[in-house]
Amino acid sequence: MNAFSKPSLGAYNVIDHTYDVVVVGAGGSGLRTTLGMGAAGLKTACITKVFPTRSHTVAAQGGISAALGNMGEDDWRWHMYDTVKGSDWLGDQDAIEYMCREAVPAIYELEHYGMPFSRTEDGKIYQRPFGGHMKEYGKEPAMRACAAADRTGHAMLHTLYQQSLKHEVEFFVEYFALDLIMDSEGACRGVMAWNLEDGTIHRFRAQQVVLATGGYGRAFLSCTSAHTCTGDGGGMVIRAGLPVQDMEFVQFHPTGIFPAGCLITEGARGEGGYLTNSEGERFMERYAPTAKDLASRDVVSRSMTVEINEGRGVGPNKDHILLHLEHLGADILHERLPGISETARVFAGVDVTKEAIPVLPTVHYNMGGIPTNYRTEVLRPTASNPDAVVPGLMAVGEAACVSVHGANRLGTNSLLDLVVFGRAAAHRAAEIVKPGASQAPLPAGAGEASLARFDKTRHAKGGTTVATLRDTLQRTMQGHAAVFRNSKSLTEGVEKMTKLWGGLEDMHVSDRSLVWNSDLMEALELDNLMGNAMTTMVSAEARKESRGAQAHDDFPDRDDANWMKHTISYCDDKGAVKLEYRPVKMQTLTNEVSVFPPKKRVY
Ligand SMILES: Cc1cc2nc3c(=O)[nH]c(=O)nc-3n(C[C@H](O)[C@H](O)[C@H](O)COP(=O)(O)OP(=O)(O)OC[C@H]3O[C@@H](n4cnc5c(N)ncnc54)[C@H](O)[C@@H]3O)c2cc1C
Repeated sequence: MNAFSKPSLGAYNVIDHTYDVVVVGAGGSGLRTTLGMGAAGLKTACITKVFPTRSHTVAAQGGISAALGNMGEDDWRWHMYDTVKGSDWLGDQDAIEYMCREAVPAIYELEHYGMPFSRTEDGKIYQRPFGGHMKEYGKEPAMRACAAADRTGHAMLHTLYQQSLKHEVEFFVEYFALDLIMDSEGACRGVMAWNLEDGTIHRFRAQQVVLATGGYGRAFLSCTSAHTCTGDGGGMVIRAGLPVQDMEFVQFHPTGIFPAGCLITEGARGEGGYLTNSEGERFMERYAPTAKDLASRDVVSRSMTVEINEGRGVGPNKDHILLHLEHLGADILHERLPGISETARVFAGVDVTKEAIPVLPTVHYNMGGIPTNYRTEVLRPTASNPDAVVPGLMAVGEAACVSVHGANRLGTNSLLDLVVFGRAAAHRAAEIVKPGASQAPLPAGAGEASLARFDKTRHAKGGTTVATLRDTLQRTMQGHAAVFRNSKSLTEGVEKMTKLWGGLEDMHVSDRSLVWNSDLMEALELDNLMGNAMTTMVSAEARKESRGAQAHDDFPDRDDANWMKHTISYCDDKGAVKLEYRPVKMQTLTNEVSVFPPKKRVY
């Protein structure tokens, strides 16, 4: 700890710190950023609300994509095409080019860091097929997902944590970041945090703050994400008066276990698994004749929902679908899919070597988030400059929207996004941050407003518990921002969200202490979820087309003339959302590849 002092703000004493860089979050993206910052000689702090290796990245199963070509021919341009097509032409092509090209060195770097990948007979990194990843611009499935059995995230997160300990970076574990500190020029100057363990309040000053706080899956009732995925970075950005982007695009993973919601990786279909309806039919052959069960996630989730809606669901209530793996044989299941075999046994009571797994589409990933350029600098578009940068602020990982995933993310492209853009953040910081440079004093009263909010929440004396409010939020999102949407349901969703926002005034927090107060932490997380959820619902209501994960019954077609643009949304403290739009980047970074013009998306 340096620059140690204890000024007081309102009722709280504050402990001050100064760093070159502060990273908030220690999942795959935060750790890759932190280790890169350390390696670049920058004095770096990493703040995390859970122990690093408990971040949601640890749960990633299926793999991380890169056109290594270890198991058949591959090319990063094919990967780029698949990602652009998967994004339904909402992804920025400069950023997608960057990610798919850099994928190859980024994976070898992980290998050299010691990541325990599964191997081929001749010792190369094992690669499996995954949804939407094809050869030769859509011809046949490609083997592109590098995997460590079905525990790829676990292997990756532990590797990155060990590597980051090599550098002189400092971890602030079980510190909950509250708010950004912004100055009058609109630059980010640091972050406020609450130490969950001893209740102290900390003010971090930095030349650069990096948000790596993950997604907000917990805004929905049924999701695959950890309870910690509450969109805290998005919440902080929204409260700082900055925008979030493309929030309407929420990915449903086709195979959440019915009814628990835990994930069965798409790698299960990559290894040869397939879906059937109540008639025993492999229905994906009708919807996606080429890619079949390995079409991209939005396509498979919608096909399953149509089957159920048309009465061909399985079970007494005809409300789910079956995933078959039993034909793969016990040896393959044991070697390549041991984790999901166990999950199916525990959560569905199914022995995958003998029976099919009951599955249903479940919320899995947030394509939307904090807008950045491919160098990870956060954007605040203005009328004259859609690419204007917020000085001092970067965002990476699921919290960010670069946008490489556009309207729909391909499986295995998120783990890739974490490491490629974690590296990119460190490269950019090495250019713009001078190690140890003196920093101007923080604005007078920096952090005061944040602590006032903290104090108000801590003493909230209304009549509704945090759990009740959160449950209403999750049910509203699940019901109104679903796989299929329509104008009526979205309008009602916006009304319900607005009412719920007003209802926050009636919140009740029962524990007033500062030490390990999980009631207070959940209240602060709810606040963050609300901003993310409100912008999601309003952006979805406004987008009058179907594209990627937004399937709108009243506007079933993609409308490039009017809607090939990013939604930029601001949300004020009353829950009022303001929408603006920003063009999609239809240019590449180099002349090694040309732009892929929009066309109809078929698999
Ligand atoms: C079950 C599951 C399986 C998946 N499988 C795959 C896969 O096979 N391949 C793939 O590409 N993608 C997969 N994904 C998606 C991918 O794993 C995630 O998108 C990715 O791991 C997110 O990483 P992250 O670094 O952005 O955030 P996370 O790993 O979620 O980490 C967030 C970090 O931020 C910290 N944090 C958050 N808020 C605060 C706060 N207020 N104060 C301090 N710290 C905070 C947390 O402590 C944590 O360290 C899967 C996702 C799930 C849920």
